Amino acid sequence: MSDTNPGSELAARAEALDAADPLGKLRDRFTLPEGVVYLDGNSLGALPAGVAARLAEVVTEQWGTRLIRSWTEGEANWWNAPERIGDRIAPLVGAAAGQVVVGDSTSVNLFKALVGAARLAAPGRTELLVDAATFPTDGYIAESAARMTGLRVVPVDPAAAAGAMGPDTAVVLLNHADYRTGRLHDLPALTAAAHAAGALVVWDLCHTAGALPVGLDAHAVDLAVGCTYKYLNGGPGAPAYLYVAARHQAAFDSPLPGWNGHADPFAMTPSYEAAQGVARARVGTPDILSMLALEAALDAWDGVAVDDVRAKSLALTDFFLDCVAAYVPAGKVELVTPTGHDQRASQVSLRTENADEVMRELISRGVIGDFRAPDVLRFGFTPLYVGFADAERAARALGHIFG
Ligand SMILES: *Cc1c(COP(=O)(O)O)cnc(C)c1O
Repeated sequence: MSDTNPGSELAARAEALDAADPLGKLRDRFTLPEGVVYLDGNSLGALPAGVAARLAEVVTEQWGTRLIRSWTEGEANWWNAPERIGDRIAPLVGAAAGQVVVGDSTSVNLFKALVGAARLAAPGRTELLVDAATFPTDGYIAESAARMTGLRVVPVDPAAAAGAMGPDTAVVLLNHADYRTGRLHDLPALTAAAHAAGALVVWDLCHTAGALPVGLDAHAVDLAVGCTYKYLNGGPGAPAYLYVAARHQAAFDSPLPGWNGHADPFAMTPSYEAAQGVARARVGTPDILSMLALEAALDAWDGVAVDDVRAKSLALTDFFLDCVAAYVPAGKVELVTPTGHDQRASQVSLRTENADEVMRELISRGVIGDFRAPDVLRFGFTPLYVGFADAERAARALGHIFG
């Protein structure tokens, strides 16, 4: 690397931190291009090493040779994939088996979760509280779900959400982390507040699952959704997941009761009877190729403790912030992400002038982050494959751009 500065104290610190990192070897479980620092795994996770071969096998063997038998036979068993893979995601979000089902997009699962939650809510309640800074699709879907169920959307700042919950609150929809700022919201406290107000809570885990412990069961969350192509590395457009707590499943009334969620789908009966368990949240025929790519991608988590991932994530973002402070001239960037560990997810967002142009320049130097309009540089830290030397190099490149 032309810009190596072997004298740098930070480079030496990075080397020591990488050498002591118990997760450092996990990078071998991914296929990453030489010379690239990849800090955009919070938008599209890197490619796990086993996915290409597994997909080839699925296509040539399971589809090409076994043909329709793969739906129900042997290891392929495509029909059970949504629940089977849901059970692989469950421990990563702190859920016991049988509560997570994989399929559809996050947007579609949000729709199922919100309408389902509204139908579970105590009668007479009128409000759907929605994170005012939410990722846009959540807000759009919430509007439609509210219209369908006779609720009124009330936008709330998550920091003030607990105070807004009351006897009119039916359902609360919150993002576990703010996608723009990287702020982590207090899932245990906000869930408890919703329950104290007699409401149900739906959490969007897109920016936390795979980055930090979520504890869905421990905190008695009602419903949750998340995508798998960010920190879970499932691949572009990989199917999302929906968590329905076991205690709600018998009464969960999906607004999309497709035949895959029927108690006896192959009876082909004209009337709908929901399957037992979380399978009732299924809709139609799943996208098997994407789903099985995700299943192979989840092998990257074998033997990995989410607590260790969290510890490394915080150490990485702390170290990146030290490097930015050292390398970037004062006044050029403003930190948007909270510095407190209990308020930080796994990304660092920096506000700057001409952020779009700065990010393009960073990418041309081999440091891939992303730009969020109008003025935010976003750097995602994915502890399975990002190291401390990556953080140091990224901050140094940023410093050079402003230097
Ligand atoms: C990434 C993301 C989504 C994506 O929704 P899709 O339906 O997969 O496009 C939704 N919500 C949040 C909070 C996200 O971060």
